[in-house]
Amino acid sequence: MASLLSVKNLSVSYGPAQAIFDVSLTADAGEVVAILGANGAGKSTLARAISGLVPSSSGSVEFDGADITGKLAHQIRRAGLSYIPEGRGIFPGLSVIENLRMAVAQERRAERGPAIERAIDMFPILGERRHQRAGSLSGGEQQMLALGRVLAVPPKLIIADEMSLGLAPIVTESVFQSLDAARQQGITIVLIEQFVHRALSLADRCVILGRGAVTWSGAAADAGPEVLESYLGAGTELSA
Ligand code: ATP
Repeated sequence: MASLLSVKNLSVSYGPAQAIFDVSLTADAGEVVAILGANGAGKSTLARAISGLVPSSSGSVEFDGADITGKLAHQIRRAGLSYIPEGRGIFPGLSVIENLRMAVAQERRAERGPAIERAIDMFPILGERRHQRAGSLSGGEQQMLALGRVLAVPPKLIIADEMSLGLAPIVTESVFQSLDAARQQGITIVLIEQFVHRALSLADRCVILGRGAVTWSGAAADAGPEVLESYLGAGTELSA
């Protein structure tokens, strides 16, 4: 069976500076694929290119049986691929409920209310804080809002970019549990994470990037200490 997401020989440049070199990877339906790599290795650029937020210079991206290379970000979102950017991707000046309303604005009118209720059922804190400005929520609550926005209308695949950045360990754990719950609903997850061991505990497979290229890929269970040490190098935070 074809993969849900299939990235083939993708390259991305920022002006004259190439950030991604000939990267290929796949994610099958229901899988969690971790993308690991040192700071600046190109993880966010790869995620942004897949999501249509930066153009690729060559290569292709197929999603759910369609070629989405060069499509606009909102078209890719519509096709069922949601990107949660590093830094949360919420509107800090709007209230919680306004953030949720914006997330479902593209849905048919009759489906918007139930979609918002679904997000609040998943993360009841969003209901309690519905009139609070999103920017005044705690870091963990902001990530719940980011996830609630995405899961209100469940996508087929989520790319979660460093959702644990800046969160306390206990809050990080609840973010991971929410991602695990999404996976149990059948949502495919591409997980970009600084907490390598926690990411690997959730992941089926792992792709390691170094200087914009794939340096290792394989089963998460095979990404043992030697692999991580050789391909991620010193200075990478290995545990939550
Ligand atoms: P981090 O973990 O620090 O977020 P990353 O692995 O996600 O790193 P990217 O942010 O994708 O890496 O960066 C990859 C390379 O592209 C780096 O050399 C970075 O300086 C460069 N880069 C990223 N964004 C831009 C941009 N908007 N313009 C120019 N260069 C950029």
